[in-house]
Amino acid sequence: MKTVEFVYNASPIFVKKLLLNLEALRRNRFRRYGNFVALKKQYTLSYYNLPYSERLKLQEKKVITVLNDVVHHVPFFSFIKKEEPSIKLEKLPVIKKNDLRKNTSSFFHQKKKKRDFWVGHTSGSTGTPLQYYSEKSGVRIKYAILDNYYNLFGCSYGEKRIRISGAKILQPTKDHPPYWIYNKVDNQLQMSAYHLSDTTAKDYLNKILSFQPNYITGHINSIYHLARYAKKKGIQMKSLKAVFMDSEGGMSEQIRLVEKVFDCPVIGDYGTSEVGLIAVLCREKNYHVLDRTVKVEILDEHDQPIEAGEPGRIIVTDLKQTGFPYIRYDTGDWGSVGFVNCPCGWDGSVIKNIEGRCDEMIITPSGKKLTRLSYITKPGLGIKESQIAHVAPDEIIVRIVPDDDFLESSLKNIEKEIHQIIGKEMKYSFDIVASIKRTKNHKFKHVVKEF
Ligand SMILES: [Zn+2]
Repeated sequence: MKTVEFVYNASPIFVKKLLLNLEALRRNRFRRYGNFVALKKQYTLSYYNLPYSERLKLQEKKVITVLNDVVHHVPFFSFIKKEEPSIKLEKLPVIKKNDLRKNTSSFFHQKKKKRDFWVGHTSGSTGTPLQYYSEKSGVRIKYAILDNYYNLFGCSYGEKRIRISGAKILQPTKDHPPYWIYNKVDNQLQMSAYHLSDTTAKDYLNKILSFQPNYITGHINSIYHLARYAKKKGIQMKSLKAVFMDSEGGMSEQIRLVEKVFDCPVIGDYGTSEVGLIAVLCREKNYHVLDRTVKVEILDEHDQPIEAGEPGRIIVTDLKQTGFPYIRYDTGDWGSVGFVNCPCGWDGSVIKNIEGRCDEMIITPSGKKLTRLSYITKPGLGIKESQIAHVAPDEIIVRIVPDDDFLESSLKNIEKEIHQIIGKEMKYSFDIVASIKRTKNHKFKHVVKEF
């Protein structure tokens, strides 16, 4: 465990609150620095009022600019002949998470400094732990677009909001409220998704009612849990303008119930930690591709394009930044792309049937609902893929596909993570395997139930 995490976990609640606020300040130095108002204007979503054909031409130009830049300054792409008059994106190899993990240093732009990057950790939808980098300027653009997107639904950054997520803000053994910490920097009440159960739902709901947020963001599974409880108790929410669900998405029956009980639209984005926003959900429930800042391709298993409307692997090229470029990057997700003249007024391509985002949850014997279990294998080293199999009510198996540089001793860190997230009420074991079985759609599932 990193020292800072250790200090945080061992601290009393008022110190946790202070540390949480300091972390929010640190993040905002990456997200909202400089003249952020001007940047928001520059990245207004009214850009998408331009005809789609015109936007595609602009996108093509941007792709060429990005490629010319990386060919000259990013070592990984030095295999492309510099004298080539026009480099074709389609001719470049698809880059997988594992390629990035093994060649990290060769992806850095030679003209940028280390301090220009945000360093993050993810294991995404394939369970491959990855330390990734994003150029600060790209992170800032992501948040400008996100703010503009929130504005469409009458919500603004800085207004009272609640976030329910898997951020480990409290000890997993904590068994009495508060299960939340107020972050003054963002005017956000951060609630712990890990402590939400049928027994604690009442405490969460009472707090939401007294806090009166303008909007809620976070895991749809947790928000749905609260909506179900509220419905059972006949509680109707009136103050909310919207619920923004995180990228893992939700099932339509969950969304319908939350919209009814919380009396507001449920929307959200689709994206990955590395690339940022890829598409945003409109009120008509279409995921509109943000073609100004990202190019999406759908490919088959042999990296060949698939006909429009047919499902395949979602491959993205980031057009926001080249400091640590994501070019033809394999998201690990599965979906299809189609064209719509959407009644919301936004014409263009939309992503449909995104799979790999509705992680199954695990319900522990005491009734705790655990989601976003990808955190568990994050501290493992040299793991190609991993899967958490729920094999009995009180038992999980963590399957691991090792890579050449697999470090068995890092399993100890995963064990610590299991204790943190699941507690001691479930048995666990590791299974080192050669490969992980896919679903019939060739889709990888990080969490599976097998009883
Ligand atoms: Zn729409």
